[in-house]
Amino acid sequence: MPLIETRRLKKNYQLGKALVPALRGVDLIVEEGEFVAVWGPSGSGKSTLLNLIGTIDTPSSGNISLKGRDLNEFDDNGLSELRNQSIGFVFQSFNLVPVFNALENVMLPLQIKGDKAGSAREKAAQRLTQVGLSDFFAHRPDSLSGGQRQRVAIARALVTDPSLVIADEPTANLDSQTSAEIIELMQKLNQDQKTTFIFSTHDQRLLNRVKRSVRLIDGRIAQEEVY
Ligand code: ADP
Ligand code: ADP
Repeated sequence: MPLIETRRLKKNYQLGKALVPALRGVDLIVEEGEFVAVWGPSGSGKSTLLNLIGTIDTPSSGNISLKGRDLNEFDDNGLSELRNQSIGFVFQSFNLVPVFNALENVMLPLQIKGDKAGSAREKAAQRLTQVGLSDFFAHRPDSLSGGQRQRVAIARALVTDPSLVIADEPTANLDSQTSAEIIELMQKLNQDQKTTFIFSTHDQRLLNRVKRSVRLIDGRIAQEEVY
């Protein structure tokens, strides 16, 4: 059974009196353990697709199943529980808490879940080490580079052991060298622990070593490449 399956997925936004079609019927299957890039120009629907799969927003029509369960069958509480248990998020602007250091930022999802501080600290330390930041536990975001901040955010996304990590334009605020390193890091984490990753980008140069890329144009899948 696939991890993600979307069928005839459509999303329209209401903008004043106008309806803006953002997704016009997307059929996408992602198997467990895959590493998938969603790419396309600005406005092609990448964020919308990732937000729908991440249960942050709901479709206008069509369905999404995660591990065979149709999201339409969940109420808001059910969706937020599912989200907290199985999905980690990475954002283009990192979304770290500025007054917390790196370790505290990564501990946060565990503490929200109710883990004890000691166990949360241990898991967070392990994740930060895994992303190459063992020397930066006590650094606040403003004393870290963009690439280091995104590593903290990736550690935070993984610390609850989600089945799926969704990264919406994770490299949009990074230079090209750092962007390539972040994609490489996510690929390594994907291989090491079988977590499924789906990330979006408008930068085609980041795709050359990505196994599977789904190209969106104007709310539709225009092209699929599997290497
Ligand atoms: P991308 O992530 O590829 O840039 P988006 O999913 O953000 O694309 O946007 C797809 C389309 O939907 C665009 O035309 C965008 O302007 C529109 N859109 C996105 N969010 C909203 C919103 N909240 N209200 C109205 N239109 C939106
Ligand atoms: P990205 O494509 O990087 O996700 P955007 O700049 O497209 O970022 O969107 C940022 C936010 O603005 C999102 O919450 C999106 O839903 C909203 N948005 C995008 N386009 C529109 C629009 N035309 N009208 C209103 N809100 C929009």
